[in-house]
Amino acid sequence: MKKIVIAVDGYSSCGKSTLAKEIAKELKYAYIDSGAMYRAVTYFCIKNQIIIDSNINFDKLQSELKNIKITFNYNPQSKKNETYLNGENIEEQIRNIEVANNVSLISTIKFVREHLVNLQQEMGAKKGIVMDGRDIGTVVFPNAEVKLFMTAEPSVRAKRRYEELIAKGQQVSLEEIIANVESRDYMDTHRDESPLRKADDAITINNSNLSKNEQYVLALKIINEKIQKLNESRN
Ligand code: C5P
Repeated sequence: MKKIVIAVDGYSSCGKSTLAKEIAKELKYAYIDSGAMYRAVTYFCIKNQIIIDSNINFDKLQSELKNIKITFNYNPQSKKNETYLNGENIEEQIRNIEVANNVSLISTIKFVREHLVNLQQEMGAKKGIVMDGRDIGTVVFPNAEVKLFMTAEPSVRAKRRYEELIAKGQQVSLEEIIANVESRDYMDTHRDESPLRKADDAITINNSNLSKNEQYVLALKIINEKIQKLNESRN
């Protein structure tokens, strides 16, 4: 059976990565969290004072971009693919509120997007991949065989993200998370470069009232039907 590309796009804190990971596991495909790549660049910028109080040193970022090596390594203990920046495990750091508050600004930059999109396309060249993000079905893999577009009410998403961060021991308030989700939604949908939008051929999944399992069953049904259709048309 030929492998396909599955693009999962949608708003912040919609559970895209949870779903994408489960699908990848079931199909024995690779999973790539493209948001982690934008977060890694943002973390690098904060650490190297390329971004200070929302002011970006564009020249420095452009010249340093070649020194930003992002890789993913499986951690058998956490059973997760973790993000590494130049060999350092930064999985925990890239999930903090400082990175979350700056990432949508960094991801508006054209040369950053071009660089990361190239890397993402290389990762998916052999297919057999599930990638989640904002522009996967529109820009990174416009020919992906399956495109899912995930959405949920902002209040539901903020509450989920808040509970996730609190469970990790981070000190955040619900108001802060609501503000972050709203501002990232705004910036992600209004930027000039590859704004978040549903690809014409994407299937929307609104998971406001779906359990994780219901969402997983629904997505897998969509994917299996598509794979079956492709196999039939090839025979
Ligand atoms: O998916 P996650 O919430 O971790 O993504 C963090 C941020 O990275 C998003 O809010 C968005 O600004 C940016 N992003 C993007 N394009 C992608 C993935 C993420 O612009 N493909």
